[in-house]
Amino acid sequence: MKRRACVIGAGPNGLAAAIVLAQAGLQVEVFEAEPTPGGAVRTLELTLPGFLHDFGSAVHPLAAGSPFFSSLPLRENGLEWIHSPAVLAHPLDDGTAVVLERDLAEAERSLGADGKTWRKLMQPFVEHWAELASEILAPLRVLPRHPLLMARLGLNGRPSARRLTQQFRSERTRALFAGFAAHSFLSLDEPLSAAFGMLVAVPGHAVGWPVPRGGSQSITNALCRYLAQLGGSVKTSTRVENLSDLPPYDVVLCDVGPRQLARMAGERLSPAYRRQLDKYRYGGAVFKVDYALERAIPWKAAECLRAATVHLGGTFDEIAGSEQAVREGREAERPFVLLAQPTLFDPSRAPQGKHTAWAYCHIPNGSEFDMLPRLEDQIERFAPGFRQCILARRVFSPADLERMDANLVGGDIAGGAMSIRQMLFRPTWRHYATSAKDIYICSASTPPGGAVHGMCGYHAARMALARMK
Ligand SMILES: Cc1cc2nc3c(=O)[nH]c(=O)nc-3n(C[C@H](O)[C@H](O)[C@H](O)COP(=O)(O)OP(=O)(O)OC[C@H]3O[C@@H](n4cnc5c(N)ncnc54)[C@H](O)[C@@H]3O)c2cc1C
Repeated sequence: MKRRACVIGAGPNGLAAAIVLAQAGLQVEVFEAEPTPGGAVRTLELTLPGFLHDFGSAVHPLAAGSPFFSSLPLRENGLEWIHSPAVLAHPLDDGTAVVLERDLAEAERSLGADGKTWRKLMQPFVEHWAELASEILAPLRVLPRHPLLMARLGLNGRPSARRLTQQFRSERTRALFAGFAAHSFLSLDEPLSAAFGMLVAVPGHAVGWPVPRGGSQSITNALCRYLAQLGGSVKTSTRVENLSDLPPYDVVLCDVGPRQLARMAGERLSPAYRRQLDKYRYGGAVFKVDYALERAIPWKAAECLRAATVHLGGTFDEIAGSEQAVREGREAERPFVLLAQPTLFDPSRAPQGKHTAWAYCHIPNGSEFDMLPRLEDQIERFAPGFRQCILARRVFSPADLERMDANLVGGDIAGGAMSIRQMLFRPTWRHYATSAKDIYICSASTPPGGAVHGMCGYHAARMALARMK
């Protein structure tokens, strides 16, 4: 008799876990609450017919650089990465943009006076991306397998982003780095914000910041197809409220948040473990808008048309101010906006000649504040006439995001705050294991945390398999 496993949630981590279990010969069933698998990795017609929008993730350095995803036949199952000519553009008020080139030598040239410093900072990690990825996309180890590399990362990344950028001569390079560090939801004056900035920038050179042809759904579809080849199945529109509603399985892996797990598993978890889950903290949220556009965004700086991702927020100080506000529970007056313009490089996602844009800014968890005017003012600032290009828009408040995917609690897209405590004990010191020996948690609320890489699911399933022997 084959052993049977069940995975709750068909996000990238749930699907990764299901694949590891199926590869080991288990009969795997995945139950997904929503009608379409993928969680925050779905592409939907959110505005007008023919316009395909990424509901959640849009740009995928860590999916392209994921040790587990790289081992799977995803290309054979329809996944094709598209790289824009430049990794990223960061427009400034003088009508120009700082552009990050993927090739380090080109980046060195284009960053002028700071080129050498940038290269010196990034090169050791870019050259050893595979080793770095195996360290950072796993639970933090007391004794790392690559101690010198990790020591170097610690040395450069331990201070705040503000401190790290003091080595740059130009305001432009400081602004560029601020954009990377701001992905972390940390204040740019906090320790470790430099490390986050580096870990966002390094894959830009090492593997690029690609978008999948057809949208992020192509990642999910490739994972689902491969799972089916291994004999696994995904049942959609099936929300699991309580584990006791399920038939018996040898093991259950939950791609859900800690509080959902506590509700779902109830008495099967010890009271002490449930108390630990209740203490888990969520982090900042996002306010997101998807646009159907009449034409490409009319950037003042034409260089912005070379990059699928654009960071809008101006100088280091301005971006730092925006992130500080969110950290203090306030809505930023001039928010830092992350924008993706995938149809410039993948016309398959919109009717001929038309475009889409995906944009979000950070906002306190659960905030009901309408950031739309402020977010669009930031786009207009660098692309006057943007509002006239809009055919339709779809706005997602934090509550709207959570309605579309129960794991996005209060609009938190990273599965929980990235405090030092929650980096080490995510969601508890047991990591993927729970107090019940047949129940595991495998969502972004486990190490290594948010982003599309599938490594939470991979490590959780490996732990489950090791303990089943
Ligand atoms: C707006 C936004 C932008 C983002 N941008 C990027 C980006 O550009 N690049 C990047 O790498 N990452 C990005 N992310 C983050 C990334 O998408 C997530 O970190 C990742 O999807 C987490 O994967 P997961 O499998 O843990 O959870 P999810 O993707 O959230 O999937 C969880 C799944 O479980 C299902 N589920 C929950 N409860 C139940 C239940 N009771 N029964 C059945 N099913 C259930 C949900 O419906 C969902 O399908 C973004 C996220 C969002 C929301």
